Amino acid sequence: MSTPDKIAVKEINPQDSGDLYKKREKIYQRHLSGFFQNIRIVTIWITLGVYFLGPWLSWDSRQAVLFDLPERKFYIFWFTFWPQDFLYLSWLLIIAAFALFFFTVLAGRVWCGYTCPQTVWTTFFMWIEHITEGDRHQRIKLDAQPMSTKKFVKKFMKHSLWLALSFWTAFTFVGYFAPVRELWFDLFYLNVSGWALFWMFFFTVATYTNAGWLREQVCMYMCPYARFQSVMFDRDTLIVTYDEARGEPRGARKKTANPDEMGLGSCINCQMCVQVCPTGIDIRNGLQYECIGCAACIDACDSIMDQMNYPRGLIKYSTENAIEGKPIHILRPRLIGYGVVLGLMIITFLSTVYSRVPLELDIIRDRNALYRETWQGTVENTYTLKIMNKTQAAQDYHIDVSGLDNIIPHIPKEVSTLAGELLTLVVTLEMKPEDIKQRNSTVYFTVKSASDPSQEVTEESRFLSPRN
Ligand code: SF4
Ligand code: SF4
Repeated sequence: MSTPDKIAVKEINPQDSGDLYKKREKIYQRHLSGFFQNIRIVTIWITLGVYFLGPWLSWDSRQAVLFDLPERKFYIFWFTFWPQDFLYLSWLLIIAAFALFFFTVLAGRVWCGYTCPQTVWTTFFMWIEHITEGDRHQRIKLDAQPMSTKKFVKKFMKHSLWLALSFWTAFTFVGYFAPVRELWFDLFYLNVSGWALFWMFFFTVATYTNAGWLREQVCMYMCPYARFQSVMFDRDTLIVTYDEARGEPRGARKKTANPDEMGLGSCINCQMCVQVCPTGIDIRNGLQYECIGCAACIDACDSIMDQMNYPRGLIKYSTENAIEGKPIHILRPRLIGYGVVLGLMIITFLSTVYSRVPLELDIIRDRNALYRETWQGTVENTYTLKIMNKTQAAQDYHIDVSGLDNIIPHIPKEVSTLAGELLTLVVTLEMKPEDIKQRNSTVYFTVKSASDPSQEVTEESRFLSPRN
């Protein structure tokens, strides 16, 4: 019998499948610490640090990361991307998609559990909830109480901190699209533009709602990734698993009791793994699409195993093959395929970006007349040159024409541009009738930076004349 290479995602509430709507049961996640939670704290702080500090970094006396939509220029440290460079952005998105596929096949939902913005902000919001309202049992008790001054103060504190964090998140987001220091002063003097104000309001509400109220529902009902993850999983994908063979039959017992004599497995049915789960599932029911791979249940169960003097690892990162005692395969065709494509795309992308010439030349022939015959009998063609200085410094450029003998260019030998300037230049090329060999000839324009010879572009155009 062939072995299926996909893990079925189980329906955890099959008895409810007839209902189209089920009221959400509020999840009171228990606070915990442990090895994987420490790793999560580090990744969450790194993610938050990169996000909140990003717009405040400077490069060459300007904002290091700025997506200047009105000017249609994206500044990312020493690079300036123009609308013509949007190919790079699409490329980057494709690389990100392949990286997600690769790491999902390799290690399951590590993105969801450790670095997804929804997880990061929700964890931060939950931490605020923990410090203002207390741990799980205190929050359950508080919510069950009628409104009182004490309850009001706690709730007020929590929501105020949530809103402050949401606003700062929104301000930072807008700060990636408008110079953040100016935005800060505008905010301080209540002089923010209507659009900036609208987006700040929008993202404040979105952050507050998603991380404060919707939380796991975003992962369960709104995120498409949760739905198609099982397609990418195979029997060697690292997942959070419960060792059913070791844990069952589950049951309560004293610490001193011998589980073998009681006919019990290692699971003491303490429910700790359920209480720490941010999505409220019971991992003992098997892999479920709600599981974001945060490993909170591993840390919780390991602490219980320590207390019971049982070996750790009743819940652990493992693979379906490993759990069943079958051979494990780290290098699988699918993983190798994704890895090779990802590696090639990254190498090609980096080499293309680094070898990119920050200079662009467009040549537009005069559309009104193919050519003009002068009173001296010579033939003239007119062109519009668009020279785009994509660097972040002023540049002088030399312009040369080649491809035709004895052509007479009416072009300035050198032109100056400001940083990021698009220079439009109307020029003419002239030829004497005796030098013209054919009606339609190729002519080349070369623009070269005076200060950096590696910045050189050549574009071809046509020189037209009445002669054969
Ligand atoms: S935390 Fe461990 S011992 Fe407790 S219920 Fe979960 S699996 Fe069983
Ligand atoms: S089952 Fe475990 S790993 Fe999955 S979301 Fe819940 S706590 Fe996190």
